Amino acid sequence: MYFTHLECASGCGAGPFDPRERHFLCPSCGLPLLARYDLAAARAWSRDSLVGREPNMWRYREMLPLLPGDEPVTLGEGFTPLFHARRLGATLGLDRLYIKDESLNPTNSFKARGQSAAITRAKALGATTIALPTAGNAGNAAAAYSAAAGLECQVFIPKDAKRPFIDECRLYGATVTLVDGLITDAGKMAADKGKPLGWYDVSTLKEPYRVEGKKTMGYELAEQFAWKLPDWIIYPTGGGTGLVGMWKAFAEMEAIGWVASGHRPRMVSVQAAGCAPIVRAFDQGTEKAAPWENAHTRADGLRVPRAIGDFLILQAVRDSGGAAVAVTDEQMVLDMLEIGRHEGVSAAPEGGAALSAIRRLAADGRIKRDETVVLFNTGGALKYLDVLAQ
Ligand SMILES: *Cc1c(COP(=O)(O)O)cnc(C)c1O
Repeated sequence: MYFTHLECASGCGAGPFDPRERHFLCPSCGLPLLARYDLAAARAWSRDSLVGREPNMWRYREMLPLLPGDEPVTLGEGFTPLFHARRLGATLGLDRLYIKDESLNPTNSFKARGQSAAITRAKALGATTIALPTAGNAGNAAAAYSAAAGLECQVFIPKDAKRPFIDECRLYGATVTLVDGLITDAGKMAADKGKPLGWYDVSTLKEPYRVEGKKTMGYELAEQFAWKLPDWIIYPTGGGTGLVGMWKAFAEMEAIGWVASGHRPRMVSVQAAGCAPIVRAFDQGTEKAAPWENAHTRADGLRVPRAIGDFLILQAVRDSGGAAVAVTDEQMVLDMLEIGRHEGVSAAPEGGAALSAIRRLAADGRIKRDETVVLFNTGGALKYLDVLAQ
């Protein structure tokens, strides 16, 4: 295992921080911390060692946040199917469109990866209660992994959240507090209530380990494409942990010699027209994203008016030569149906949004017919079926 320390992602120079202690945001600049590994030593780790390992994200455990003696809290998350979506691709004039189907994770979304890693660390650090604000999927995953770890879970969720998200938290034994307000209000309430009680807060990018879980999507893409990364990655972006995580994975894999340098995918950040702070900042060329006023979209995972890792998302999109695209709710719901009827895949509105962005980039000639494109279907449709009836 090569996990060594934590470091501030902003380059403020604080740290290194000892992962045997609890750390959340950088004590010096207030921005996210990231996990670091002994990459020089990890060059001795051969990708051939993956053969025969269990098909879940912990197959990359040498490069995940485990210390000697730690065992992962796992429900079999990750190693989701990546398949060639020929019929859907044909409707767009694309020969090599692939779907990475994250809806097949425990609790039906890729939030499982992040919470598996975060709650593994929380348990190792002696936490007894997990707490978080959520729009839905993150809370479901946190509740499930807390149950699997034997920990208590406190979920703070806006009271207008979709019913299935609230009920599923309770299914896994979590205590649910309905908040009269937005996810930002729920976050404040979770922090105020939990701080004096020592609750372990697993809010997006406020602890360093959800990114580590989500970066395994980058390792998997490389392995599933036989160590040649695709040309485009289309990622519906809220807090951006997956996009930031995959970009980190590509850097790590280059450093340890698993993939060639200089062939990174173009990263596309997809947001909803009613909440597109990253797209606006990308267009304006700013380093950070101003908070979005009156955020609204039916894609709950995309209703994030302010992402604390905004600068990391923008850096990855720009360094990759990618794009940032906003799509309307109407279009993303139509595209959920397109994914369903052409491929038999259950897509959340966020997955639909990724297709809408591909449609736009292909029509503009940015994505070429023979390029390899990966659509991230980040969650399944079942908790959102009400949007089809509207
Ligand atoms: C949370 C979520 C997203 C956004 O993920 P981030 O990594 O926070 O950007 C996208 N799709 C679904 C289904 C989600 O639950």
